[in-house]
Amino acid sequence: MVTEQIAARGLRTPRLLAVMEKVPRHLFVPAEELPWAYADGPLPIGEGQTISQPYIVALMTDLLDLKPAARLLEVGAGSGYQAAVLAELAAEVHTVEIIPSLARGAQEILQRLGYTQVHVHLADGSLGWKEAAPYDGIIVTAASPKVPPPLLEQLAEGGRLVAPVGTRGSQVLEIVRREGTRFVRDVHIPVAFVPLRGQYGWK
Ligand code: SAH
Repeated sequence: MVTEQIAARGLRTPRLLAVMEKVPRHLFVPAEELPWAYADGPLPIGEGQTISQPYIVALMTDLLDLKPAARLLEVGAGSGYQAAVLAELAAEVHTVEIIPSLARGAQEILQRLGYTQVHVHLADGSLGWKEAAPYDGIIVTAASPKVPPPLLEQLAEGGRLVAPVGTRGSQVLEIVRREGTRFVRDVHIPVAFVPLRGQYGWK
């Protein structure tokens, strides 16, 4: 997975590759998907949701440009896999999930693997998670028509946000950096994520 899917596509930071090698992706997928746990694509995790393609997890992590002391917010915990990867590279991760069974599953596996620096919250993450804001990095793993305004408000100065933005069927990865009172935007590759629900998601 690491050599053929991630390094081969140009992500070569040794620390990132080490983390992608370390986090046991097979423990985050349902039993029936086990044979494909390290395959080059997203996989169903129940409730119509998916665990992202390994390369996309690595890419979004890389785009956050994390420092070890960073405090992060993830919107869309899903399986908990992306949160585990982030936790290996940052100090604290708050991950919000709107579907109760997925939030419970993510919480269980993250706890079992000893990721005490990850906090799973059952809530509408399109509103962010005000209680622990501001964040040095925010990652949204479900697609929305535009970046939810509360997430921009909860981004620390100098912080970065990565989110798939576009239509229901296709999006681009948008990167927003907060520089003082300004938000500087960049777009990266085309992607296809499941829709964001909640107040600032799709109806
Ligand atoms: N990051 C996940 C993949 C997430 S798939 C992983 O590593 O497995 C997108 C997830 O976003 C789904 O679990 C979906 O239920 C969740 N989601 C969608 N809208 C949401 C919202 N408004 N708040 C929180 N979670 C949301």
